[in-house]
Amino acid sequence: MLQVRELTKAYGEIIALRGVSMNVHKGQLLGFLGPNGAGKTTTMRSVFGLVEPDSGEVLWNGDPIAAKDRLGFGYMPEERGLYPRMRNLEQVAYFGMLHGMSRQAAYLEAGRWLAEFGLADRAEGRLEELSHGNQQRLQLAAALVHSPELLVLDEPFAGLDPVGVGAMGEILAAQAAAGTAVVFSSHQLDLVEDLCDDVVIINEGAVALAGAVRELRTGAAHRHVTVEVRDGDPGWVQAVPQAAVLRRDGDRVLLDVSNGIQLDALLAAAQAAGEVVEFSYEPPSLNEVFLDAVGGS
Ligand code: ATP
Repeated sequence: MLQVRELTKAYGEIIALRGVSMNVHKGQLLGFLGPNGAGKTTTMRSVFGLVEPDSGEVLWNGDPIAAKDRLGFGYMPEERGLYPRMRNLEQVAYFGMLHGMSRQAAYLEAGRWLAEFGLADRAEGRLEELSHGNQQRLQLAAALVHSPELLVLDEPFAGLDPVGVGAMGEILAAQAAAGTAVVFSSHQLDLVEDLCDDVVIINEGAVALAGAVRELRTGAAHRHVTVEVRDGDPGWVQAVPQAAVLRRDGDRVLLDVSNGIQLDALLAAAQAAGEVVEFSYEPPSLNEVFLDAVGGS
């Protein structure tokens, strides 16, 4: 298990981290969320010794992280760190050898990952000849080639097309299912909601919210109700003081209501106005939970 404990970090006047703590368990796929500049990359870099925190610690299986532990970690950094001129197969194998694999095993696994990503025919080509999405795949192959126990990815979905996003998501889920501890940052919250059971949301260098996506959504203080009253007087909703109209689309309204609202009273008000053809009640999306947590709107 990875434990990040009370990390603080200042760059001169800028306080990047104000005491960030989080855990990533083996087999967990954790979404690490936060607005631009919240401190995600700084936290991730601390795990790899690329940032020296001012205080706090990072532990792996209960002990401070040693160089040998990092051999078993995989990192896909934000500034993708591959060599543009190196041949693709050689490059991925090189990362394997850097993590302690034999030459033979590294080439074998590199070839396997290239095939997995549909890049087998590009093995002898160079990174600079690949499209952006394929460069991302190669970068992921370089992070996975040594079968890491911990995989840390900084915005792995950025710049991928929908097919690439789907494939990346499947790979990360498969890694977690195989027992790897996986944590990734992303601004694509719909995707995170579909993919992750758990998230940590940081804001201005501190954890704003953490937990299971389901619980964070159902624990929110408000709910959404979608109601469609066919040919009804659109004014019916004004009679329900606890409901705020978020969106109106013809006869259909999306309402924001408090968690404790009397749904039967709301339904009765809609039925009094006309034929109710849709009535659904659901917790806010992860996107809204995020905006509430970071003070956005
Ligand atoms: P993004 O979503 O934009 O990638 P982030 O959550 O990854 O953001 P960080 O890159 O960790 O955020 O940055 C946190 C804060 O620390 C920002 O205010 C950033 O400007 C600052 N910062 C990060 N690295 C440095 C550095 N090397 N020197 C000075 N300030 C830095």
